[in-house]
Amino acid sequence: MFYSLFKIRTKFFIFPSPHSSFILMNLLIKTLRLLAILLPLVFVMACSQDETTTPTPTTPTSDTTVPEVYKKIYGASSITSDGTYITIKTNGVPDHKSPYFASGNSLYIAYSGTTFGGYNFAKNPNSIVEQSAIYKIPLKPQAATIKSATPLGRIGVALNGVPFFNQYAGPNNQELTGEMASFDQFYGHPQQSGVYHYHVEPLHLTQVKSTKSGLMGFLMDGFPVYGPQEENGTTVTNSSLDVYHGHTHATVDFPAGIYHYHFTTAAPYLNGNGYYGTPGTISQ
Ligand SMILES: [Zn+2]
Ligand SMILES: [Zn+2]
Repeated sequence: MFYSLFKIRTKFFIFPSPHSSFILMNLLIKTLRLLAILLPLVFVMACSQDETTTPTPTTPTSDTTVPEVYKKIYGASSITSDGTYITIKTNGVPDHKSPYFASGNSLYIAYSGTTFGGYNFAKNPNSIVEQSAIYKIPLKPQAATIKSATPLGRIGVALNGVPFFNQYAGPNNQELTGEMASFDQFYGHPQQSGVYHYHVEPLHLTQVKSTKSGLMGFLMDGFPVYGPQEENGTTVTNSSLDVYHGHTHATVDFPAGIYHYHFTTAAPYLNGNGYYGTPGTISQ
């Protein structure tokens, strides 16, 4: 087989001597070997490009840099981007003191004053439990054509890694007023499995880590949450917000303008009739 091929080749090219044809054959074999190595490589490169690039070769591949604004989530253990979603990993434990920590914990503090809504603080039977939550939120949030309701449980993440909950108490979306007395001096409390969370203005952020008009975090649809004031100092009321509890204008973090939610002292406090955009996913 090889011999006959050799013969055909030599005949075809009409080499002057068997010796020179032997050299050429060697060269051919070497070239074929090189091709055998290079071809799969070229194929792999072509495949990976299929997934990430747009038609024009001058367009850069998807950018996985985490924009500065997400780095404000100082309570996260990691924040990454795949170019489409921002992934935020947290353990959910607040960075401030609370009567809901075990009494031996350095963050434990007793409390007996009043809380949100003027209620006298009445501790619920739950305690803070560290537990991982991974929030995957859209990097470029868009208004959803069909809006979806927020569920009970985590609906977003605060800068300190504590989750946001909606305006209802479980089960079956009961009025939140029934559990407001159990909000601690920072307006948070843990639920049955120990997930500490905020339904209303997180005081540690508005008073210590940020300001009344500062960024508080993000809801699962990727839209940011701001405190109860605008940057000019005016207090935000429900009348300046839509039914999802947000509106659009420029903020210091988004100078080009963005839809954003605000905390308000009146119900629904953070979110109204559901997500304005399409929510990402939460895993543990
Ligand atoms: Zn709650
Ligand atoms: Zn605003």
